[in-house]
Amino acid sequence: MMLTRRAALLGLAAAAPLGAFRLPSDPDVVVVGAGSAGIAAALTLQAQGRSVVVVEAMDRIGGRALTDTSTFGVPFDVGCAWLHKSDDNPYTGYARANGFRLQAHEYDPERVWLGSQPTPARLVNEAEAAMSETIADAEADVPASTLVDLSDPIAEAAGDYLGALDMAVDLDELSSLDYASTDDLEPNLLCAEGFGSIVHHRGRALPVRLNTPVRHIRWDGPGVTVETDAGSIQAGAVIVTVSTGVLANGGIRFTPDLPVETQEAVTDIPMGMLAKIPLQIRGQRFGLEPFTDVLLARRGRRDLYFLSFPFDTDLMVGFVGGDLGWELSAAGEDAAVDFATQGLVEMFGSDAASAVVKGGLTRWASNPWTRGAYAAVTPGRHGAREALARPVGDRIFFAGEALARGLIQTCGGAFRSGEAAARAVSALVRV
Ligand SMILES: Cc1cc2nc3c(=O)[nH]c(=O)nc-3n(C[C@H](O)[C@H](O)[C@H](O)COP(=O)(O)OP(=O)(O)OC[C@H]3O[C@@H](n4cnc5c(N)ncnc54)[C@H](O)[C@@H]3O)c2cc1C
Repeated sequence: MMLTRRAALLGLAAAAPLGAFRLPSDPDVVVVGAGSAGIAAALTLQAQGRSVVVVEAMDRIGGRALTDTSTFGVPFDVGCAWLHKSDDNPYTGYARANGFRLQAHEYDPERVWLGSQPTPARLVNEAEAAMSETIADAEADVPASTLVDLSDPIAEAAGDYLGALDMAVDLDELSSLDYASTDDLEPNLLCAEGFGSIVHHRGRALPVRLNTPVRHIRWDGPGVTVETDAGSIQAGAVIVTVSTGVLANGGIRFTPDLPVETQEAVTDIPMGMLAKIPLQIRGQRFGLEPFTDVLLARRGRRDLYFLSFPFDTDLMVGFVGGDLGWELSAAGEDAAVDFATQGLVEMFGSDAASAVVKGGLTRWASNPWTRGAYAAVTPGRHGAREALARPVGDRIFFAGEALARGLIQTCGGAFRSGEAAARAVSALVRV
């Protein structure tokens, strides 16, 4: 069979000998973490002629960008899937230039059930748009739940969609000013090969040391000493791209301690939860076209969202967020798959259960190298992101989705944040 141009390019990516590089022993800069932000930081530093080593705890690059092709035999994005704000996303042009197939797809609910009752999706979408405006107009930094009336079931569904299923926190944990500072994420694209595959492709030629958790960063002498399980690396500066969940958990020790403002900022931007529950469906499609967005809204924050049969695959990808996301992550895969299957039964009748041949659950909550899905500022602590973005001692720089300005929580935003940190290093650090 002749390889298409696309297949040839993607095949090359799979063959890249990650982790097999000889790493410089005394680089200008160490980048901690090989997710989107770390990849961007390293690429930017290389382009500036700096020597760089990326140190990654997991056995792969990409971080929260990961496409799994083995579990269901088709690409399934375990982490990020949508290229948000795709007309200004650092991955859009790259994906197109490298043969990835992109498809426009917004994620407003198209089919809505209130319990087992089909309901016009327009009602939820209109309520969500009005709610979004109200929260974004707030002048004080308060929990979003205090600004809106959730007593009506349509309003509750809209609130769950805006909070738990988008921002990964329920409305009482959503800071109004943080929400107001986010960009409009449309237009959105999905990728047939998976967003994780694009991120992996972009980072494939970087000097990454895999399976090497950083335990300790010393900045009590000149430059920094980055201590890992495989030894220490001396450098002029370090860019730390690990999640705020990892930082808050003490995953990396600092000597001397980080300034109090930095430590407080870390705890003020805790991780939210979005968990995916993919269901593999055989024998029927419930009358749903590929890519249909389905929302099953229930009272008491038990909402479940499905992206149906993307790219004509046999997957219905379930999503739960906020407290329910944490709860089902803790309950485990069997309970989560059962929950999502019961959701199908509620909407499509008891035969729906027998169409589910396999299910899964993403594990970002228990992954020690992420400790959550993405970060959301605690109400009242809106300034935390700016505080965390301040370099420490002119040699420790933070980057990642939590510091992605208008594109917080997104993979494209994380990339931009990595680029910005690399530029800041070059401006401040003489090597
Ligand atoms: C379920 C889910 C759905 C999402 N959906 C979307 C979406 O549709 N669109 C979108 O744009 N975004 C989405 N996101 C968010 C997006 O995936 C993240 O914002 C982005 O990938 C984060 O990149 P990052 O570089 O900041 O962090 P990460 O990807 O977490 O990278 C940090 C890296 O640091 C490593 N690390 C941690 N601790 C250490 C240590 N001690 N030493 C060395 N390495 C360490 C980690 O292993 C990781 O590889 C989603 C996320 C989740 C979880």
